[in-house]
Amino acid sequence: VSFGYQDVAVSEKTARVGEVFTSVARNYDRMNDAMSGGMHRLWKDRFVRRVKPRAGEFILDMAGGTGDIAFRMEPSEAQITVADINAEMLEVGIARAAERGIDTLVWTQANAESLTFDTKSFDAYTIAFGIRNVTDIPAALSEAHRVLKRGGRFFCLEFSTTVWPGFGDLYDAYSHKLVPRIGQMIAGDADSYRYLIESIRRFPDMPTFESMIAKAGFVQTRVEPMLGGLVAIHSGWKI
Ligand code: SAM
Repeated sequence: VSFGYQDVAVSEKTARVGEVFTSVARNYDRMNDAMSGGMHRLWKDRFVRRVKPRAGEFILDMAGGTGDIAFRMEPSEAQITVADINAEMLEVGIARAAERGIDTLVWTQANAESLTFDTKSFDAYTIAFGIRNVTDIPAALSEAHRVLKRGGRFFCLEFSTTVWPGFGDLYDAYSHKLVPRIGQMIAGDADSYRYLIESIRRFPDMPTFESMIAKAGFVQTRVEPMLGGLVAIHSGWKI
């Protein structure tokens, strides 16, 4: 399987991704602002508006990292669980929650590919900028489907491939030249950001990823592209 520019054994990928996020955890929030010019905030706002958490619902924010999505859903009457494979990312999130006086979130370490939650236990499943880091994406999608109740909704925010002519090339040039440098400057770590950029380039395009979601059992799948699909919200329902 691909790990950035390299190929690694399937058994190795999850550990390598783990090293990346352990390395970037402390600087993760500042780096997002630096790399996206603050735009990730708008994408996440829009994403959470689509999810619309309702009173009494159980929501699973998978690959929730330092809590950006969960914090945007608060205050809410829903019960939100933030799950992530990486303890360091969760630690940063728990500290941020404490600073903000948010004590209603449940934080738990979990691999999206094999969840220990009961079948049909959530009303909504969200995953933002997480799925492309998962080694076995079909396994994660099928687990998402399993843990959702009937009528449950799936939402994924992820980088994709823009269809705007020229914009893709511009973005490619920006991301390959500048992002590792910004990573070096802010986080002292260019390699992790090289991986993150390359993982974006290798992620399936919108129609392909939508069909993977359908294959996992979701219906009424939809894609909402932003900036021509540079970033996209994919969604679907479990019936
Ligand atoms: N959702 C957060 C956000 O939007 O700011 C964090 C996104 S961060 C780019 C990606 C996260 O995916 C990391 O916290 C990483 O630990 C997590 N991750 C990677 N592989 C995972 C897996 N197999 N299961 C659960 N989380 C995973």
